[in-house]
Amino acid sequence: MNTTTKNCPNCHNNFILKRLNQKYCSDACRIQKNNERSRAFRELTKNTNYILAKNRQILSELEAEQLTEIELKIKGFKFGYVTNFISKPKSTEFICYDYGYRMIENRKGRVIEIFKL
Ligand SMILES: [Zn+2]
Repeated sequence: MNTTTKNCPNCHNNFILKRLNQKYCSDACRIQKNNERSRAFRELTKNTNYILAKNRQILSELEAEQLTEIELKIKGFKFGYVTNFISKPKSTEFICYDYGYRMIENRKGRVIEIFKL
C-alpha cells in the first residue's frame, strides 16, 4: 500500500495522511496551533488598540479646543495612531474613531483643532 507522510506544523512529528488536505497530525495539534495563532494576534493588536483608545479618550476630553502639537503630546497623545484620515484641499483630517483633528494656522502659529465627527 502506498502511504504518504507529512510533517505536522505543530508538534513537528511525521504522520501518515488520512486525507490529502490534512495539515496536522491530530485535532489536538490543529486546535493548539490555532489557539497559538489567535494568542499571537491578540498580543500584536493589544498595544495598538490600547493607544487608539487612549488617543480617542484624549481627543474627546479636548473637543473644540486648539492646542499645539507639544501640548497634545504632553497629554499623552501619540501621533501616527489613527483609524482613518481624510484629505481635504487645505489640510488632512486625522480621525480616531468618532473624533478627529486637523492642523490649522492661526495667530499663535500652527495649532491642532480637535472636532467630533
Ligand atoms: Zn502534531
